[in-house]
Amino acid sequence: RNGRDDAGVAGRVRVAVRLRPRNTEELLNDADFADYVELMPELKRLKLRKNSWDCETFQFDEILTETASQKRVYEVVAKPVVESVLDGYNGTVMAYGQTGTGKTFTLGKLGEEDAADRGIMVRALEDILADVSFDQDTVTVSYLQLYMETVQDLLAPEKDNITIAEDPKTGDVSLPGATSVEIRDQKSFIELLQIGEANRFAANTKLNTESSRSHSLLLVNVKKTVRVKPERELATLNENGSSLQSPKGQTILTVRKSKLLIVDLAGSERVNKSGSEGLLLEEAKFINLSLTSLGKCINALAENSPHVPIRDSKLTRLLRDSFGGTARTSLIITIGPSPQHRGETTSTILFGQRAM
Ligand code: ADP
Ligand code: MG
Repeated sequence: RNGRDDAGVAGRVRVAVRLRPRNTEELLNDADFADYVELMPELKRLKLRKNSWDCETFQFDEILTETASQKRVYEVVAKPVVESVLDGYNGTVMAYGQTGTGKTFTLGKLGEEDAADRGIMVRALEDILADVSFDQDTVTVSYLQLYMETVQDLLAPEKDNITIAEDPKTGDVSLPGATSVEIRDQKSFIELLQIGEANRFAANTKLNTESSRSHSLLLVNVKKTVRVKPERELATLNENGSSLQSPKGQTILTVRKSKLLIVDLAGSERVNKSGSEGLLLEEAKFINLSLTSLGKCINALAENSPHVPIRDSKLTRLLRDSFGGTARTSLIITIGPSPQHRGETTSTILFGQRAM
């Protein structure tokens, strides 16, 4: 299924691979990284060397080399999703990869020292805030952690078991118990992210775990009042459920709701591993469950399978209405340059490849 065009972009997951630049230690210690992985950004291909005589080539939607800027990563990976959220569709941006490969840098970097470093969350909010008009539109944000199949509110740590509600008729997913903060400017959004990060650290210290063992989810709800011109005589329901008659050709005001989910996934090295590095068996089981069922759902979408096993984990249940159908989804696969992690890098790339 490689080389498929973008015609079916809604519903299919777009997959980009990003390589982290080498850190000081890797610069000092590692043999040339190009030995085992070669990026071909123009061809959107990645070549993985298995041994001295054999290599495998993978096609992706985008290849982001170690020199790709945060701005470019945002534009390639997230901006199309943000734009479709502003058009009224749900969207998801996720990062998957081994701990230390740049998931949080890519998604959550605040860029306070250097604005060029700002990650996808900050840039997405900037575009959303610039698009809405606050006299009638609202942007609200929730920030959550999913740990061991429990949803915790990072904006109100005492709420440590948030229920996922699903509307049986529409399939809409919501978190009625979660704190939802209305955001009007970038400064208050950054403060909110900082509060969330501090709460996450405190919660994980209390639980004696690490952030790499949980998923973090930023949920941005956008409510826009838009003018639409119905194609034909139309009876629509307005917010209060009362009917609104509109003759053909006459514009009407309607409220449009959509949401953006930005998901920093648990470290992929946790899949199929337990006992190692102090990882509790229970933790491993749950990380495995969520990442494996995410993989299954992504595969099902890629294969146009009628059965998307969305109910298998809380992570996929949360994604239910932001995934497939009219929603747009981007997946960033992050990899590191060290040949020491060849095994992890290979399985991370294979995870991304199955989505194509
Ligand atoms: P993860 O969230 O996947 O565990 P991090 O985002 O925390 O990984 O990144 C690990 C380290 O690498 C951090 O110190 C981060 O600042 C650095 N880093 C990651 N990606 C980049 C990049 N593209 N450019 C510069 N530094 C990066
Ligand atoms: Mg991280």
